[in-house]
Amino acid sequence: MNRETSRDLYDRALSVMPGGVNSSVRAVQPYPTFVRRGDGAHVIDVDGNRYIDYVMGYGPLLLGHDLPQPVEAAIQRAASEGPMYGAPTEVEVDLAEFVVRHVPSVEMIRFVNSGTEATVSAVRLARGYTGRDKIVVMRGGYHGAQESTLVEGDAEHPTPSTSGVPAAFARETIPVPFNDEEAAREVFERHGEEIAAVLVEPILGNTGITMPVDGYHGTLRDLCDEYGSLLIFDEVITGFRVGGLECAQGTFGVTPDLTTFGKIVGGGFPVGAIGGRAEIVEHFSPAGDVFQSGTFSGHPVTMAAGLETLKYAAAHDVYDHVNALGERLREGLVDVVADHAPEYTVVGTDSLFKVVFTRASTPAQDQACTAGCAQDPDCARYEQCPKTGGDVRRAETERWERLFRPFMAERGIMLTANQFECQFVSYAHTEEDVEETLEAYEAYFE
Ligand SMILES: *Cc1c(COP(=O)(O)O)cnc(C)c1O
Repeated sequence: MNRETSRDLYDRALSVMPGGVNSSVRAVQPYPTFVRRGDGAHVIDVDGNRYIDYVMGYGPLLLGHDLPQPVEAAIQRAASEGPMYGAPTEVEVDLAEFVVRHVPSVEMIRFVNSGTEATVSAVRLARGYTGRDKIVVMRGGYHGAQESTLVEGDAEHPTPSTSGVPAAFARETIPVPFNDEEAAREVFERHGEEIAAVLVEPILGNTGITMPVDGYHGTLRDLCDEYGSLLIFDEVITGFRVGGLECAQGTFGVTPDLTTFGKIVGGGFPVGAIGGRAEIVEHFSPAGDVFQSGTFSGHPVTMAAGLETLKYAAAHDVYDHVNALGERLREGLVDVVADHAPEYTVVGTDSLFKVVFTRASTPAQDQACTAGCAQDPDCARYEQCPKTGGDVRRAETERWERLFRPFMAERGIMLTANQFECQFVSYAHTEEDVEETLEAYEAYFE
């Protein structure tokens, strides 16, 4: 595969952009593939190579790269009428009403410009509303590039996970292991009165697609209720994908106080949002005393793209299609690894999938979890399946990144950059794409 133009572009990029990219995860070794354009479920790179794309913009592209006519028309119209105004537009109200109608926990919503901005604002809102400072987060959870959550260590010794974050900020964050009810109980017993909120992804979507064990979110809900803390679901990646229009909170039957959105809700344009109970969300300025503002917030082009995407999904078989292909992929992958690498774990749900190169020698995935690890206690390998971010981190990340991913790219399958980020099936993918993909996996493992 000739990738000379990508290499030359990266050479230029390295001189003018730190690491040659505008988002860290794109700096794939030895150099990224520069994309020229999308085509349905495929991308074509600057050297003319074609790939089946499972990156899908890291999540926003539910419909794939070719937008259906009504979606494309609405975007073109909004852009041609003048990009933005600094005054409200009707489409913001339309999209807010759509989300409020479909996500039961959301009575009011504020749109912002990225998932990061959504989680930053949600944390500020929770602190302002409760008058408390501490935030509980999951180790291996991801909430964007923000000060309050770029924290590692344990509950008693939190430290910044990046330089540039004051240690004093990290001290207000309490990291706990995902799926560990006992650890959550302990931090509430010690710090409950100081905890403004628990901020949690319903499914760890940026650390190998780790599903919650049965009852985990219910326990977080109970602890928050008992101590007067808020439960914030970060649905930036799961929102309008897992559980369809009700989002992952519908699937798990747990009602958060606040939800952060991003990715799909902007239909491929920069977006974030904070939704929840009106009584809480109304603490945002100008209704309330928690300052929040943005020049581009509720951008008409983004709002049109998000609204038309979601309306299209509501009116067509989008979720049935992507979920059925996701299931077929995961089932096929379970068969592939059962034969060649039974210790590896096929993870994912709905239209998310990944093979995590777990190390422990374990039985192959069982009947119960045949379409991706579902944390089923009756599965033969329940004890060994990844339950925390740490479990995924201990898997064979080097083999995944240096051998497996380049092999797949060479076969025309574009996967996310590393073992941690999830992969997405879109409405544009077909059964033939899935079969071709499974053949490529088979070729790597055999
Ligand atoms: C992508 C993501 C974010 C950050 O969103 P950006 O738009 O990249 O700032 C936050 N939380 C989760 C769960 C995400 O997947």
